[in-house]
Amino acid sequence: MSGWALLEKALAGRWIAGPRIKDAAERSARFNRLGIGTEINYLGEDFRTKAEVRDAVQTYFRLIDEIKRDRLDADISLKPTQLGLLISRRLAKDNYGRIVARARSRGIFVWLDMEDAEHVDDTISFYMAEVGRGNVGICVQAYLRRSAADIRGIVAMGGIIRLVKGAYSVKGNGAFKTKPAVDRDYMALMEYLFKRSKKFMVATHDTKMIKAALRLNGHYNRDVTYAMLNGIRNRYAIALARSGHRVSLYVPFGSRWVDYSYRRLKEAGHLSLIIRSLFERQSV
Ligand SMILES: Cc1cc2nc3c(=O)[nH]c(=O)nc-3n(C[C@H](O)[C@H](O)[C@H](O)COP(=O)(O)OP(=O)(O)OC[C@H]3O[C@@H](n4cnc5c(N)ncnc54)[C@H](O)[C@@H]3O)c2cc1C
Repeated sequence: MSGWALLEKALAGRWIAGPRIKDAAERSARFNRLGIGTEINYLGEDFRTKAEVRDAVQTYFRLIDEIKRDRLDADISLKPTQLGLLISRRLAKDNYGRIVARARSRGIFVWLDMEDAEHVDDTISFYMAEVGRGNVGICVQAYLRRSAADIRGIVAMGGIIRLVKGAYSVKGNGAFKTKPAVDRDYMALMEYLFKRSKKFMVATHDTKMIKAALRLNGHYNRDVTYAMLNGIRNRYAIALARSGHRVSLYVPFGSRWVDYSYRRLKEAGHLSLIIRSLFERQSV
């Protein structure tokens, strides 16, 4: 194995709970003991066969049962392309509805991740079909120019938003391309959420955004969850939880770690960040 492949594997182990549902449940329980909730995701995306999609749906069913059995403070987080979106829109929508129904009946909250820009319309329409019955949230990416309008529509329907900067490459001019432009939009969308939405998730590792959110919440007093990806800034997440804020960590599990790890490596960008993330002492 090359040095780069070894580094990738070590990082994957840090970001990902392990291959099994049990690994995700145990990691969740450890975070819960520290007063931190989780969003559990079964790794895998861009599925093109019905067998892969069936496996994902069955795995989420088992995960829901495990969360309920262990009484975990854990949501689940789904990717539309692991539910069959690349095979047929209908299939993905049905699978989303089936998973949401099962989770809802057990009091478990379901998030929809947002993937490539070409899937945003479908993802939002799946969400809109379920939002009225509650227990569901959706991710919105600040790097997309359309997101201000999307957020207005979702909030008007009583939806719950997880605001992120965005992790996929976007072609054309549908997205802000520079970090300052994305940061400006993130801040503007976050301010909108504080003004117009009662409950939402500020999902970022960016201290500047988190500090601004804490300040805004001093004024608006909303039901805000501060969310981060497992393994990036866990100590900071624990400190936030200790100071009384609601915090959640996104915990992926499964064996398909390559795409997920590749996005994290790209975000870290600078080698020093990767190394720091690798060697930062993990408290959990
Ligand atoms: C809970 C959660 C759910 C998410 N869901 C989605 C989703 O559904 N769709 C989607 O497109 N994106 C999703 N993302 C990813 C998100 O879009 C960003 O790509 C990611 O959070 C990095 O951006 P940032 O907000 O942390 O800000 P940045 O400006 O990228 O980073 C801020 C600081 O955080 C640290 N940092 C960030 N990333 C890393 C890293 N990988 N390694 C080491 N240090 C790092 C660095 O110190 C950096 O300076 C999610 C993120 C979170 C936290």
